[in-house]
Amino acid sequence: MNEIIIPLQARKRITLVAHDNMKDEMLQWSHFNLGSLQQHILYATGTTGTVLERELGLTIHKLLSGPLGGDQQIGAKIAEGEIDCLIFFWDPLEAQPHDPDVKALLRLAAVWNIPVATNRATADFLISSPLMGMVYERIVPDYTSYRQRSISVSRQR
Ligand code: PGA
Repeated sequence: MNEIIIPLQARKRITLVAHDNMKDEMLQWSHFNLGSLQQHILYATGTTGTVLERELGLTIHKLLSGPLGGDQQIGAKIAEGEIDCLIFFWDPLEAQPHDPDVKALLRLAAVWNIPVATNRATADFLISSPLMGMVYERIVPDYTSYRQRSISVSRQR
């Protein structure tokens, strides 16, 4: 497959998501990285965003709560090129009612090759990367041939 370049701008559109048992860790991480996060445009699922706004005074575009469709909204935004980076503190010890949505979200992040952190250590590496503050040439497969694949359908009705 050919590749195309889709740049990520210096000011990134970062989405923050934390499962309930991980919200405290997200709050600690965001507090520690407040100065860096304020350089960017922030999105979050509903409850995560409400906690971060209330506790840290951040300005956040809040989506629906994750289990009510927020994860799917983020996936759609990634597919439409509106999200550049995902910080997702998911709970590895508890099944979630919206596990299929979580899987779909991570899949779309892979399809569109956006940076994703699913734990705090990776989030530390991401937020401290010099690439966070620079234009980054993201290499994405050129899906044109997929879109134009031939589909044979029967003409009988
Ligand atoms: P929440 O959603 O921030 O609305 O709790 C997080 C999640 O996806 O579980």
